[in-house]
Amino acid sequence: MSQKITSIRGMNDILPTQTPLWQWLESRVRNLLQSYGYGEIRMPIVEHTELFKRSIGEVTDIVEKEMYTFADRNGDSLTLRPEGTASCVRAAEEHGLLYNQVQRLWYTGPMFRHERPQAGRYRQFHQIGVEAFGMQGPDIDAELILMTARLWRELGISDLVTLELNSLGDSEDRARYRDALVAYLSQHIDALDEDSRRRLEKNPLRILDSKDAGTRAVLQNAPRFDDYLGEQAREHFAGLRQVLDAAGISYRLNSALVRGLDYYGKTVFEWVTDALGAQGTVCAGGRYDGLVSQLGGKPTPAVGFAMGVERLILLLEQRAPELPAPADVYLVSTVAPAAALVLAEELRAALPQLRVQSHCGSGSLKSQMKKADKSGARWALIVGEDELAAGEITLKPLRGDSEQQRIARAALADTLAAQIK
Ligand code: ATP
Ligand code: MG
Repeated sequence: MSQKITSIRGMNDILPTQTPLWQWLESRVRNLLQSYGYGEIRMPIVEHTELFKRSIGEVTDIVEKEMYTFADRNGDSLTLRPEGTASCVRAAEEHGLLYNQVQRLWYTGPMFRHERPQAGRYRQFHQIGVEAFGMQGPDIDAELILMTARLWRELGISDLVTLELNSLGDSEDRARYRDALVAYLSQHIDALDEDSRRRLEKNPLRILDSKDAGTRAVLQNAPRFDDYLGEQAREHFAGLRQVLDAAGISYRLNSALVRGLDYYGKTVFEWVTDALGAQGTVCAGGRYDGLVSQLGGKPTPAVGFAMGVERLILLLEQRAPELPAPADVYLVSTVAPAAALVLAEELRAALPQLRVQSHCGSGSLKSQMKKADKSGARWALIVGEDELAAGEITLKPLRGDSEQQRIARAALADTLAAQIK
């Protein structure tokens, strides 16, 4: 026998037993985003490698170590998207969505990063991302955060997540801070990990994001970003905090929060949990006013965030919300299939919202009833010779303890309609 081919490490199948929870989450998110006036955009999964290098930054974990990059048959360097913001900006700019207008966009789909797979960290994972363009005040930053807070309430996970907030200032503030940070870290260079030492020259702010214990110890006494914020960034941050305070959203100020991508400035935030071990960030984002022009467009203020769907699913599994059963009715029949399948079609036509699963393939009444039970349906409809001759159907409740009854076929749709809502 030839060897079986398995899936790629860190790239998961999502099975029919798992998809109901995914669909439940996705539909809640979709409704929420629609209710705030966000429109969906769908981008390709593959882009020119240059797009990610220019936006995420050459000296970042993602670009240095994590991208799936390959030459296509023409020799062009392409990359499976590691995140959605760069593609979204590219698409919005390409189609003229950003010129002189406001846009509220969202997208969802798989992202690819070559990381060490573990619970909550995969090589193909899914994000739901939201991006808002053309608004420069802190009110839109606040709207995004209020929207995520509402989502956690609707998902029933508010008590599992906390908000961390920081401001990275404008580009001049960052330059001044960078100098101060480099001056400080240069005095402790021996205690830094290898990546951080290399980044000291090329991209020192990334060092704040280091997970290395030695580097983290040095960072304890490093200069703090908030001492370097200019007036404008300070005002912006105060404006955001005012809304959050007024809306009763609590947060923790974390001056070491820099995020793993270079394009952020001013507001950055993360929703973190301690319910998922080391993979603590479930949603992260911030303002990136410089990115659109960095990618060749007119300067356009922008702010966004992305949620990690797998991590949200892991949190939801701890809560086990009640999900709809896959079917309302399981149709059991011991007569010719034509009669049963025609009945099922009649029911579907009369009650479009009714979910009907027909038994296919023969089997004794007993074995079909077992399958009916296993399907999770609320009722079994039984069509046997007897019922057929009498123009009736047996309706047998599969949950609870009400009695089974025989119903005239003509009255069946009305009876079921009264039960589902
Ligand atoms: P982390 O610090 O956990 O590596 P990140 O800062 O690299 O996260 P972002 O690029 O901001 O993550 O992506 C936004 C969200 O996407 C994260 O908060 C997380 O929930 C999710 N995410 C990122 N990388 C992965 C991954 N490899 N597997 C699963 N989810 C991920
Ligand atoms: Mg990462």
